Amino acid sequence: MLVSFVVPCYNEEESLPIFYKEACHVSDILRKEYQAEAEFIFIDDGSSDGTVKELRKLRKKDDRVRFISFSRNFGKEAGLYAGLKNAEGDYVATLDADLQDPPSLMPEMLRFLTENKEYDCVATRRETRKGEPLVRSLFAKLFYKIINKLSGTEIMDGARDFRFMTRKFVDAILDLTEYNRFSKGIFSWVGFKTHWISYKNIERVAGKTKWNFWSLFRYSIEGIAGFSTVPLAFASFLGVFCCDAAFIGIIIVVLRALLFGDPVAGWPSMISIILLIGGLQLFCIGIVGEYLAKTYTEVKHRPIYIIKETDEDNLE
Ligand code: UDP
Ligand code: MG
Repeated sequence: MLVSFVVPCYNEEESLPIFYKEACHVSDILRKEYQAEAEFIFIDDGSSDGTVKELRKLRKKDDRVRFISFSRNFGKEAGLYAGLKNAEGDYVATLDADLQDPPSLMPEMLRFLTENKEYDCVATRRETRKGEPLVRSLFAKLFYKIINKLSGTEIMDGARDFRFMTRKFVDAILDLTEYNRFSKGIFSWVGFKTHWISYKNIERVAGKTKWNFWSLFRYSIEGIAGFSTVPLAFASFLGVFCCDAAFIGIIIVVLRALLFGDPVAGWPSMISIILLIGGLQLFCIGIVGEYLAKTYTEVKHRPIYIIKETDEDNLE
């Protein structure tokens, strides 16, 4: 039995040695308990620090280490895809390099998968959002509420990308070759039975998080546009609603003019209404644009990532 560790890394030179030590420790346990061999697949996502150097060093001393280095930063989703594509294991785990996804949970996760054959994935979520800025928590909660209302694909609140999957599950993920990859949705969309375990939020061991409020906001729009078309229907619903309101308004205005004459008044209210309608139209065009942009990037069929170097290159 071979277990693959898939680890996306972006500027993680400080975390990598600590992660590697921990991963070795866990793979020793896996070997003892399941006679499982391990392979470590690191994806350097166009890091600007010494991440690649660190990976070459690890490769030199341990040939279970493999790595793929991207030509630029393609994002964590692309990293995960590249990792899964190159993983050869019967079981594959995806986890962060910063030890926020504790590898120590892996033996327990693997045990569950091997003992419960009807499950094809063990996934993790965090128990609480403690230690996170209040506004971010609020928006995160709101996001999960909205997306689960709008999308038929269930997106688990607080789900992390830390997962242990069977080969079958991984192959299904790889069949989804879309360019705009929203992993949380993809993992759920492929189906299969997933077992959830939760754990407390852990601070990263070194380095900084790559997320800020704005990037998280973009990511949430990405998720909604990727896994729901309800906003498009919402635009036409809004249009029908406005037309109905306008129709009733016209009847009222005509009747009033016939019955009471028409003193020229109501300029401010007219401007307000014009602004409102104009705003709604732009908003709806914006929604359409969001989907159009997604379609545009998909039909170009650009590769999800581009490789600059791998462990086979043996560069110094
Ligand atoms: N990551 C990546 N490409 C990116 C951003 C992040 O491969 O463009 C990796 C990063 O090195 C880490 C994981 O994705 O292993 C999670 O990133 P981070 O810790 O910044 O996110 P957080 O844990 O704060 O959600
Ligand atoms: Mg992290």
